[in-house]
Amino acid sequence: MSERYDCTECQESLYGQKYVLKEEQPHCITCYEALYSNSCEVCKKLISCTSKDLSYKSRHWHSDCFLCNKCTRSLVDRPFATKGDLLMCTDCYCHEYSAKCHACLKTIMPGTKKMEHKGNSWHENCFICNHCQQTIGTKSFVKKDNNNYCMSCYERLFALQCIHCKKPITTGGISYHDKPWHKECFVCTGCKLQLAGQRFTSRDDFAYCLECFCSLFAKKCISCNKPISGKTKKALFDLQNLHDAARRVHPCMCAFYFLMV
Ligand SMILES: [Zn+2]
Ligand SMILES: [Zn+2]
Ligand SMILES: [Zn+2]
Ligand SMILES: [Zn+2]
Ligand SMILES: [Zn+2]
Ligand SMILES: [Zn+2]
Ligand SMILES: [Zn+2]
Ligand SMILES: [Zn+2]
Repeated sequence: MSERYDCTECQESLYGQKYVLKEEQPHCITCYEALYSNSCEVCKKLISCTSKDLSYKSRHWHSDCFLCNKCTRSLVDRPFATKGDLLMCTDCYCHEYSAKCHACLKTIMPGTKKMEHKGNSWHENCFICNHCQQTIGTKSFVKKDNNNYCMSCYERLFALQCIHCKKPITTGGISYHDKPWHKECFVCTGCKLQLAGQRFTSRDDFAYCLECFCSLFAKKCISCNKPISGKTKKALFDLQNLHDAARRVHPCMCAFYFLMV
């Protein structure tokens, strides 16, 4: 008597039937598929043991169902990427999720060099000065009216020019008589001391520190030849009421004489 050859599960005879061995146990097709076949992620149908079961991270597809979610091209033999549950060919993935160049609006493929600034991205070659059209690369630049300029173009085009030396003012310029100056260029006409942050006064459009102004233009004491500043004038006025306060006027004690002349 020949040995019976039955399905391990349903005990039906496998004689003349297709069957599948699973761990060396014969299964009829129906039992095998019920027990071991996976359902296709897309069409939800069973992936029969006669068709190819494509699997990725414990998800399964018929090879006909393994398609790019965007362009529906087959992903069999094509590189793909996933975003959440979505499968995409790498072309679609890049197009969908990679940064786009702010200048040419094309996708910046992952792995290529890109420039980023305030949430915008550029191909390295697209990040150019709006004026000279040279790539800016890692050089410093200035953004103005949504355009980028290399430093030298920006200075030539937009930066204020110092009225004194005619060179562009990039930082910390000052304004005097509505004209821009470098701090370093705005100096006392007399002693060349920087006047920014100092008290100064002007005469005939020239600026002077108080000291120079006083010694050059203020009335001078005819006795000691020192300038009579506002403070001194006040003291002189007081002196008219306080005849004995001469000491307070000038160290040289000449104010009294000044009043007398
Ligand atoms: Zn069976
Ligand atoms: Zn399917
Ligand atoms: Zn695609
Ligand atoms: Zn570009
Ligand atoms: Zn430029
Ligand atoms: Zn200057
Ligand atoms: Zn001075
Ligand atoms: Zn004096």
